[in-house]
Amino acid sequence: MTRKLYLETFGCQMNVLDSQLVLGQLRAQGYESVTDRDQADIILYNTCSVREHAEQKVWSRLGELRPKKAENPNLIIGVIGCMAERDGINIFQKFPHIDILCGPGELDQLATLVHNAAITSAPNRTRQVALMGAAVRRSTTLDAAEDHLEMLDLSRSISPSDDISQAYVRITRGCNKFCTYCVVPYTRGPEVHRPPKNIIEEVQKLVSAGAREVTLLGQTINHYAFNHGDGRTTTFAELLYQIHEATPDLPRLRFVTSFPRDFTNEALMAMRDCPRICRYLHAPAQHGSDRILKLMNRGYTTAQYRDFLSRAREFMPDVSVASDFIVGFPTETEEDFTATMELVQECRFKNSFIFKYSPRPGTTAIDRFKDDIPEETKRRRNNQLLAAQQQASEQFNRELIGHKVEVLVEGESKLVSRRNTTRSNGIELGWEKPKPKITIQLVGRTRGDQIVVFEGHPKMKGQLINLQITSAQSLTLFGQLPTPKTTPILV
Ligand code: SF4
Repeated sequence: MTRKLYLETFGCQMNVLDSQLVLGQLRAQGYESVTDRDQADIILYNTCSVREHAEQKVWSRLGELRPKKAENPNLIIGVIGCMAERDGINIFQKFPHIDILCGPGELDQLATLVHNAAITSAPNRTRQVALMGAAVRRSTTLDAAEDHLEMLDLSRSISPSDDISQAYVRITRGCNKFCTYCVVPYTRGPEVHRPPKNIIEEVQKLVSAGAREVTLLGQTINHYAFNHGDGRTTTFAELLYQIHEATPDLPRLRFVTSFPRDFTNEALMAMRDCPRICRYLHAPAQHGSDRILKLMNRGYTTAQYRDFLSRAREFMPDVSVASDFIVGFPTETEEDFTATMELVQECRFKNSFIFKYSPRPGTTAIDRFKDDIPEETKRRRNNQLLAAQQQASEQFNRELIGHKVEVLVEGESKLVSRRNTTRSNGIELGWEKPKPKITIQLVGRTRGDQIVVFEGHPKMKGQLINLQITSAQSLTLFGQLPTPKTTPILV
């Protein structure tokens, strides 16, 4: 009997990719993926511990499953990802109905864990646990022999039903930066760089299957440098050139997330020289005050950040840059906050993801600093910074009005969704039966990562099309398909 599997993903693009990879492995073992949790025999949550909100959602989902498990003791429930690694077996105290725990660094074992759980019925079933462990979590090096997770990426399978017009490929795993507010180095472990050959083959496989855009993923992606062990190193810039050259049929290649300090001129030149690499950088500045950056352990000053930005714009005047900021970090004064405001006003970011600081379990900051900025002050600063960024984004977007842009159509717009049935132009000929022409509000993404809403045909999903930009708001551009040239009909 085919077992049904429900997998819900929280958090970042890295988690989305992890879910796709483990789902591929489990499907290959005969599990069927379902979108209705109530139909499932196995329920997995791929979790995130960066934001409190995502974590609360997981706790609440697990609470909801308590009565279901009492009703059906054979239901298998698993928590995978960052919350599993951070909280470890302590999770069982609060939620004894969980059967599987698997950290992000051990996901290559998940299929075995699920199998082991599935072959034993309750009450004889034993809990299945795979976690990295404290020693690995605290280190900054991982022996190649220990990097068994490469097998997960190499196992990637593509099913005909998968929508892969936009696909992710990981080039690094883990992080060694240890920013004080962040739990990622402790949940994903030390930074590991994948062999270029494996990355290139994976991108080629996706392109052959129909990918139109591939986004390379890494926590600090531009820190990539693969040591071949024979004295040769492939740098991030070299990797970009190699992928670009090896995939001439891939229209768009992009990457996230960049670490400002690690950006070499060579990497910026690769972006400039390779026409199919999107000129978009997500390079979080996090703060405008050097004192706070130091407390955050970011490893750069605002002068270094400004230097990176001016070098990027020197090589690519049209580059689009997005940032992240944290407001209300412990001890942040009005003066510190003003410095962040000034950075946002000066840097012409396409957009910024702005967060109020909250102490996260497992981070250095929660032990080292008192969360001393009142919630009201955090909220005010958050709103002020949002307003400054909104103004900058609107100005940035307005510059595109009247211009033509290429978008990759992602699907139906959530902003407005209306169906419009019009008559085909062909009916003027008199003998042709009128055909309904369906148009809906679609959403596409520019090479610079701007969202464009326009009216088009549902079949345009996954296609690259050109649009004329007609108006702009801070978060969205509005466009239209170019009017087709009318050919006079001779009667
Ligand atoms: S660079 Fe800093 S914020 Fe980013 S994943 Fe690493 S520790 Fe976290």
